Amino acid sequence: MNDVQCELCPKMCLIKPGQSGECRVRINIDGVLRTVVYGYPCSINIDPIEKKPLFHFLPGSMILSVATVGCNLHCKNCQNWEISQANPEDENISAYFVPPERLVSLTKRNNCPSLAYTYTDPIVYYEYTYDTAKLARSAGIRNVLVTAGYINEQPWTELLKHVDAANIDLKAISDDFYRRICSGTLKPVQNALILAKASGILVEVTNLIIPTLNDKPEQIRELARWLKVNLGGETPLHFSGFYPRYKMRNLPPTSLKTLEMARQIAMGEGLDYVYIGNLRSKQGQNTYCPDCKVLRKESQGLLIERSGYTILKNRLKDGCCPDCGKEIYGVWK
Ligand code: SF4
Repeated sequence: MNDVQCELCPKMCLIKPGQSGECRVRINIDGVLRTVVYGYPCSINIDPIEKKPLFHFLPGSMILSVATVGCNLHCKNCQNWEISQANPEDENISAYFVPPERLVSLTKRNNCPSLAYTYTDPIVYYEYTYDTAKLARSAGIRNVLVTAGYINEQPWTELLKHVDAANIDLKAISDDFYRRICSGTLKPVQNALILAKASGILVEVTNLIIPTLNDKPEQIRELARWLKVNLGGETPLHFSGFYPRYKMRNLPPTSLKTLEMARQIAMGEGLDYVYIGNLRSKQGQNTYCPDCKVLRKESQGLLIERSGYTILKNRLKDGCCPDCGKEIYGVWK
């Protein structure tokens, strides 16, 4: 009696009165499901948009970035585990009341054209994300999600109506990986990716490569093939390097050689824009025209040159390659 079921994500937690779901931030109070992080971010920063990472959305712009505590996954390698796996009432968590209107005014005051819901996972602070995104859009601000995409179809479809771009993790094409490493499952993530792309928002994908767990050429090839078939070859893919963190300190960091091997495989499978993150890579950070690159050498199809999060050169002309006129997937202004 008085148990409530949360239907926001595939965990479908059945929550007893006074208890929270697996994400720790959605609580049954007297038989009513409530979010306890609405309006209480634990982190607000201004980042380069390239840090999300988004390489095909307003390059060179700054983005106000916000997070509350909590996550519905529990990845053993989480880089932000201090906040993603925290309880809202933890002593070392500082959260201040910042309602949606204030977030929007902060974004405007700092001249950021967009607002990111990021660091932990905006899915677990869904209502805060949703209300802020609606308000932000009416104020001319774009909305960006950085998420693992572990959400049920109905709330996801509703949220996407107010979103302009997303970077969505695809951690591996392996249900076993999702179960063992993340306490999740693969299928809902694949579904969220397909729905996001079909909704018309700008979608980029991140795959964190962890030595011995998802770094084999055939695993990378399978992931690239799935993306090409289901999201299209124009979808940017970021291969990101792992660092030992949280409950996974026993594995070495990913080598640049592995990331470069992954990039070559994914491009060979027909993905047009494949990047390397967390480690410096000259060509792995640049955007090349896929047509010029095929016709000539990679270095000659250069469109956007980056160094870390900095744009060194942007040759795009109205979103197209200045040499051959090819339209480049992205939101450029
Ligand atoms: S969002 Fe949280 S409470 Fe709701 S089903 Fe997922 S883990 Fe459980």
